[in-house]
Amino acid sequence: MSRPPIGAHVSVAGGLATAFPRGADLGCEALQVFVKNASQWRGKPLAPADVEAFRVAHAAAAPLPLVAHGAYLINLCAVDPAILERSRAGLADELGRCAALGVSALVVHPGAHLGAGEAAGLAAIAQSIDAVLAAMPGDMGARLLLEQTAGQGSVLGWRLEQLAEIRRQLAAPAAVGFCLDTCHAFAAGYDLRTAAAVEDFLAEVDRHLGLAAVGCVHLNDSTGELGSRKDRHAPIGEGTIGREGFRRLLAEPCLADVPMILETPLGDDEQGHARDLATLRELRG
Ligand SMILES: [Zn+2]
Repeated sequence: MSRPPIGAHVSVAGGLATAFPRGADLGCEALQVFVKNASQWRGKPLAPADVEAFRVAHAAAAPLPLVAHGAYLINLCAVDPAILERSRAGLADELGRCAALGVSALVVHPGAHLGAGEAAGLAAIAQSIDAVLAAMPGDMGARLLLEQTAGQGSVLGWRLEQLAEIRRQLAAPAAVGFCLDTCHAFAAGYDLRTAAAVEDFLAEVDRHLGLAAVGCVHLNDSTGELGSRKDRHAPIGEGTIGREGFRRLLAEPCLADVPMILETPLGDDEQGHARDLATLRELRG
């Protein structure tokens, strides 16, 4: 029986290629990184030597599924035209970086409508994605994965129907996939506490998005209750989801090739990912 590769979001402090030794130290079978500073609009252009070092280290670690997470500032349905333009340019820049680095997928949060309303927001997100992808050179390599969100504030993409609607409005729907996040889904109101609940959730995902369109899963427990709409990650098994849901998710044959990435708190001793990976390996059996 094949099992999903499990790993973590790792720091690139000290250079992008440092992600690989960090991941290897943890025993990661998949990695997520930022390809630019995630809290700034502008990043330094990639230096050719850094690109080369990253590609060499990735090849040496192969097979190692690798995804990037987009900057948090990006809002593809921003109401302010200047912010919308920066968001689109930022997304294009990150997709270009992924292509240069050989990163196969970029995870982004769809956006927050900031009072414009759900329908207007979903339409604006689809228009932004169309505009960015239409301007990218031919085969750019990195696939855009829209992440399911917790639904805090006016953030969109927490209901699976919203993610499906964004894709439905795209000029090229097959160009995008999705990233599930257990903490976000639970906060959005999808129960994941038992094997049966996870099966119901996966059936909903399949109905609205198609399980084959899921390109990444973020594994995070939650400090908030079911339906709290709060994006607060907890160590695996120590939050309101608990161990059984993760055990069932890791056993799902339809997700056996999908990278499963921790974004859990590191804790005071910085060893949080090591503990969570050990828990996940135990639950995976
Ligand atoms: Zn996430």
